[in-house]
Amino acid sequence: MAFSGALTLTDLNDFLTPSQACIKPVEQVKEPQEIIEPAAATTGIVIDSSGSYYEVSANGASTNASSRGTERKLQQAQISLNDCLACSGCITSAESVLITLQSHTEVLNFLDSNPPVSTLGHKIPVLSIAPQSLASLAASLSSSSGSPVSLRQILRRVRAFSTRILGFEHVYDTTFARHIALLEHTQEFFERKKGNGKLPMLASACPGWICYAEKAHSEMLPFIARTKSPQQVMGTLVKSWFGNRWGMQPDQIYHVSVMPCYDKKLEASRQDFYNDLYSTRDVDCVITTGELELMMRDRSWDLSQPVENESVPDVDAEIPELLSHPGTSSGSYLHTLINSITTSHTSPVDLAIKSVRTSDYEEFTLRARETGEVLFKGAKCYGFRNLQNVVRKVGREAGVQVGRGAAGRLVGIRAKKRGVEDEKGYDYVEVMACPGGCVNGGGQLKPIAQAAGQKEDEEGFTRTWQESGVQMPVSEPPVEDSAMQGAKWGNKEWTKEVERVYWHDLPTPPPSPRPHDQGPESSSVCVDHLAVQVKIDLCYPTDGSLHESWASIMDEGAETRRRELFRTQYRAVESEVVGLAVKW
Ligand code: SF4
Repeated sequence: MAFSGALTLTDLNDFLTPSQACIKPVEQVKEPQEIIEPAAATTGIVIDSSGSYYEVSANGASTNASSRGTERKLQQAQISLNDCLACSGCITSAESVLITLQSHTEVLNFLDSNPPVSTLGHKIPVLSIAPQSLASLAASLSSSSGSPVSLRQILRRVRAFSTRILGFEHVYDTTFARHIALLEHTQEFFERKKGNGKLPMLASACPGWICYAEKAHSEMLPFIARTKSPQQVMGTLVKSWFGNRWGMQPDQIYHVSVMPCYDKKLEASRQDFYNDLYSTRDVDCVITTGELELMMRDRSWDLSQPVENESVPDVDAEIPELLSHPGTSSGSYLHTLINSITTSHTSPVDLAIKSVRTSDYEEFTLRARETGEVLFKGAKCYGFRNLQNVVRKVGREAGVQVGRGAAGRLVGIRAKKRGVEDEKGYDYVEVMACPGGCVNGGGQLKPIAQAAGQKEDEEGFTRTWQESGVQMPVSEPPVEDSAMQGAKWGNKEWTKEVERVYWHDLPTPPPSPRPHDQGPESSSVCVDHLAVQVKIDLCYPTDGSLHESWASIMDEGAETRRRELFRTQYRAVESEVVGLAVKW
């Protein structure tokens, strides 16, 4: 199992085996201790046939008054996924062990044990799938069969498989949830611009980047947007909004999401997305695109076979389907803000796009045409290597010390030497951990013939995984060049192909944001209207009928509920990782 980011931490925080000692201490209950003479016998550990551990003294005497005979049973450490998220002691492998709890076998177990409809204890199984996952399935199918398939066709076929074979009762894509996330995200940006929060605002949709910031760059946390990601907004929609419509409580719905990366499993497991009142999560289980494909293969479902009406838009759908948000295939956060600023400006504006290193790091500057005044400066930054540069740049511009320990101090010194920036700093950065963004997530399907002869990874590094201490799967027969075998991302050509399929009949990517353009398949007015209805239904403002836009401010109680439902929090994680020891 792999995570986004081909980062290698030189102080042994990556790719460790599960045998690495966990730093979480066993809770110690203070009990009266027997007085042991200095230099008296030391204690030893024995393990019985059931695997229980006992502490015994070397002279056979009990080490504790409450012990059984001469032995004291030792407590077992209880380690949750949250403990692992709050620790950088043994990340990656231990997290991967724990998140097997968020796997397709868990989904199948649940579906097998779910009592029949209309019987006590039955939960409504709901599946939501990200458009990047649909694009990955479509690209893979198109490349193996030679005939193109659209995201709509794939959505229909996945829905047929999930309902007829697995027993899901509802299947949605997550683009309407993304639409709401984008509305709330824009709202948050303008709140910050008015002084209610820090700028630049950094995107909050990528858990790969968020976990990295929490563990290695806590000084960046005030800059990260609080708006929930589309996955978590979908969780709110399914468990609360649909739940109300279906007359079901949140814990009477089982919500599975299909996502392009493993990091989304970690996101869904965060404490912030746990409903204490109903003891349930917004998203109960996350599976990757690859896991969904595995389930289809296991159940002999042929995704290449058409299903009825698969190309016809569903006008009766409960929520709009396959909304296209022009800009980037990772959610179009930056472009949505640019659209918003452009349309709210009364005079003409010009947008300039500059590539900083590659297409994974671009700057966007919006100027008033008449005066040349910079109205907005943003960046799109994908991949950990670019991300590190952006973190330093943002820290320098904002006057905060970046990184911990020696790394942070060095950057601080450099910032002082450079003095005040002579140009406007960023207002916003769309940050994504994966090179190429979400279409290239670690949970996506790989190209048919991956990596033969490929020597460089997506960030331009030449890596030999074995030499880096990474145990690679043994391939049979051995491939010509195994340097990239098992790497988590696809190659550049494949990423471009998934991107092309993602945009289906739109330019790839659209040349520039087009105001009010929501793609050919939806009416933005209608979609915005439904989004506002969701807000009113869930936040129940006292003057509900007066709210015609997402941005309108409601009464205090409703605004509090809005923050609880559509935003989240981050917290720094104490780490012993030295920033300088991180190799990019
Ligand atoms: Fe997941 Fe997208 Fe972030 Fe990659 S860029 S870790 S796919 S959210």
